Amino acid sequence: MPPDAHTHQIDCLGLTSEEAVAAARDRLGVAVNTSLPAYRRIFREGVRSVGPLHVNMPEVVRTLREPSNEGEVIKFVCRVAPVASPDPEHPLASAPLETESVLIPMIGSAGRQTYTLCLSSQVGCAMGCTFCETAQMGLIRSLTPAEIVAQWYAATHEIGIRPSNIVFMGMGEPMDNYDNVMQAVAVLKDHNGAGAALSRITISTVGRVDGLRKMREQITKPGWHRLNLALSLNSPNDADRSAIMPINRKWSLRDLQQELATWPRYGGNKLCIEYVLIPGVNDSRAHATQIADFMRPLVQQVLQNPTGDPEKDTRIRAVLNLIPYNPRRNSPWPAPTEESVQQFMDWLIEEHVFVKRRRTKGRRMMGACGQLGNEGIRRRQVVPLTQSAKP
Ligand code: SF4
Repeated sequence: MPPDAHTHQIDCLGLTSEEAVAAARDRLGVAVNTSLPAYRRIFREGVRSVGPLHVNMPEVVRTLREPSNEGEVIKFVCRVAPVASPDPEHPLASAPLETESVLIPMIGSAGRQTYTLCLSSQVGCAMGCTFCETAQMGLIRSLTPAEIVAQWYAATHEIGIRPSNIVFMGMGEPMDNYDNVMQAVAVLKDHNGAGAALSRITISTVGRVDGLRKMREQITKPGWHRLNLALSLNSPNDADRSAIMPINRKWSLRDLQQELATWPRYGGNKLCIEYVLIPGVNDSRAHATQIADFMRPLVQQVLQNPTGDPEKDTRIRAVLNLIPYNPRRNSPWPAPTEESVQQFMDWLIEEHVFVKRRRTKGRRMMGACGQLGNEGIRRRQVVPLTQSAKP
């Protein structure tokens, strides 16, 4: 990556400290004892420009806040570059694009408030899940690593909330922008910079098995074991799932089950199954039984328990997160009633599924799960574009 022409500095937002130091040395002839402290100050203190390095931050153009019983939910919107189209007549050639991110508050068992940052990996999404607002946009373009990390930077240094957890559950399918997402994770977990704990970062997918295979390789590498995975299941049988999630026509539930049953477990990384409960679509008693069938092979017994003591019998459980549906714009389905959510929880418990309920937050401002998306940009054109910010 060349130094920025006008400043003779290197934009380090999408670079790890090692990459930034190497770029400063190779491009500007700056020694590590100057560039590394600069990198640390930029990420830790939020200083935008230090010596050979700077951050070229997308502007935060809107911030929306909505109270919840665990604190204020904050949705913020950053403006990013338009699509790079050689055609000046392209409908999005000069229109600025926006990323949406959400800070979600949580009160832990000790009464301490923490925040989870829900990041976007693309503007729009190509996956076409029928219940999701983002799908209505189609895919506009993938985000660069710097544009993904910028969402963390904005949360931490502009809004002033350093998130404890980071989930890639905003706009886009992370496996559809795999290399840039993993580069962003490498930057976020860099102990010289953002310093986010890998065990508190979760990549979510609708079930792109090609991406899962790449991630499997990645998490076997030293320093990557504890990266968490979430699968958006949303229906436990192929007919229903294909109707609401087109990806299922390419990779079936059996493909996913086989992939996840042997998912590498390192005694810390989590495997979550996400289930958006939609009235009349996936909320019957039979669905609860089918979920249990799907999850059974994912619940593994730890073999290193020679004592036989059930107290020490650490079962690695795949957790089901039950998410009451948050209606998208013009949704054909309503949100489920409180009674129907509780009924479905009870059926899952009867089926011995380890289930947690996700509390709904930010629904009124279209900031809840499945509600991110720009109404003004809908299916104008699919422009797959994936850039690399590596030097
Ligand atoms: S649920 Fe996720 S993968 Fe599906 S369309 Fe929405 S953003 Fe894309």
